Amino acid sequence: MNKKNQDKKEIFELKSNQLTASKKDLSEWYNQLMLLADIVDDRYAVKGMAVWKPYGYKIMQNIKRRWDELFQNAGIQEVYFPLIVPIEYCEQNPSWWQGFKSEGFKVIAGTDNKIQGIIRPTGEPAIYPMYSMWVRSKNDLPIRFYETVNSYRYETKSTRPLIRTREISVWHEIHTAHATREEAEEEFQLHIKLWDELWKDLALPSFKVVKPIWECFPGAIGAVEYYSTTPNGRVMENGSVNNLGQAYAKKFNIKFKDEKGKEQYAWQICTGNGARLLGGLILIHGDDKGLIIPPRIAPIKAVIVPILFKGKEKIVLEKAKELSKELKEFDVYLDERKEKTAGEKFYEWEIKGVPLRIEIGPKDIEKDSFVLVRRDTGKKEIISNKDAKKKIKETLEDIQDSLLKKATEMLNSQIKDAKTLEEVKSNVKSGKISRVFWCKEGECYDKISETAEGLEGFGSDLEKKEEGHCIICNKKTKTKLYLAKSY
Ligand SMILES: [Zn+2]
Repeated sequence: MNKKNQDKKEIFELKSNQLTASKKDLSEWYNQLMLLADIVDDRYAVKGMAVWKPYGYKIMQNIKRRWDELFQNAGIQEVYFPLIVPIEYCEQNPSWWQGFKSEGFKVIAGTDNKIQGIIRPTGEPAIYPMYSMWVRSKNDLPIRFYETVNSYRYETKSTRPLIRTREISVWHEIHTAHATREEAEEEFQLHIKLWDELWKDLALPSFKVVKPIWECFPGAIGAVEYYSTTPNGRVMENGSVNNLGQAYAKKFNIKFKDEKGKEQYAWQICTGNGARLLGGLILIHGDDKGLIIPPRIAPIKAVIVPILFKGKEKIVLEKAKELSKELKEFDVYLDERKEKTAGEKFYEWEIKGVPLRIEIGPKDIEKDSFVLVRRDTGKKEIISNKDAKKKIKETLEDIQDSLLKKATEMLNSQIKDAKTLEEVKSNVKSGKISRVFWCKEGECYDKISETAEGLEGFGSDLEKKEEGHCIICNKKTKTKLYLAKSY
């Protein structure tokens, strides 16, 4: 196959405007929803780059607004660094450059077609040379900045909207620099706390593990990686908090003179994630009817569908408008379209995962009430108009809580302790994530990962409670390793 063909984009086309795939057929279901729910359109003619549609972009911007709030309240300030990274900056960290040389999109301009640099594949090589200029003395530290940008990598594996893309969009990265290791470690813990909050807003359990040290940046102290899971027990990395130690500061010369006039390198933390959060959320919360968007980030929290009968249209629409004004604070949307039946509207809004539906018809008006339907459970309830605000507020909170509870229960049921390699094998077969005692040695790690094809050790427990014996070498240990296939 020549290179051109390899790069050819596989175009996903919808065969009907109905959701025909069930969630059991995960990839097809996911692809159909991207288009039917107006999240992104992947048919743009560059592999791994998609167009954000209004509804999807609104959800993503709501997630971004939440991280802006969390980071800025914690004193981390928003900045913006240029898209083009000069080669001389990239070359300051040869091991980084080695890894990204072939993945970076080159920028060529001018009559001599000179390479001006590469388009940002990650923030470090653009940001750290500037940090090096800004840090002169201890007083210049800490630096605590973040940016939300798009990053670009020439991904050679098959791409998937929001999850594996060449344009990594709406991506935040926090980069900090500190005078001491202790201060950096405090920052590391803070980032974990902030992310845990963010994951709660997405109604997702923050499943996080310690990354094996040999998979961290060379010279780094360690990293915590967040994971989301699919219904069939596959795992997907969903952001990481990295304790870089002084590894990058040494490459990029981020140093200062201490009180004794001695040169010291800064200690650094970097943390990043983006649209993959939305991908993970869709895979976890969605069902056979479509998306389920957690109320805290839903652009429309309730949709009002008037049930129009001949001769009663005017009175029903008037009442619906009145209600939509009264419930404005819940980002309600009144679907007044005349060309669609109520049933068609129900179907569309279910696909889009709007948390609540309000049905209002002539009979409801007579009773001074409306029908409230939950997207997550399908449960219907008749609500008296006077209780509208209170009831909607309570129900939205309950949906948020029960989505998190359901996702947590699913995760817990997916993790299974294994005492033998045979058990690991049967766990993989039944779509489970295995957890085994492990001595933290690379050799044993490799042996466990070889148990089944495609199996990967992806990290160990943050909290070490009980003691056991390494499943391979029998050495005493408190560390447990997680194993699964990746999505
Ligand atoms: Zn071992």
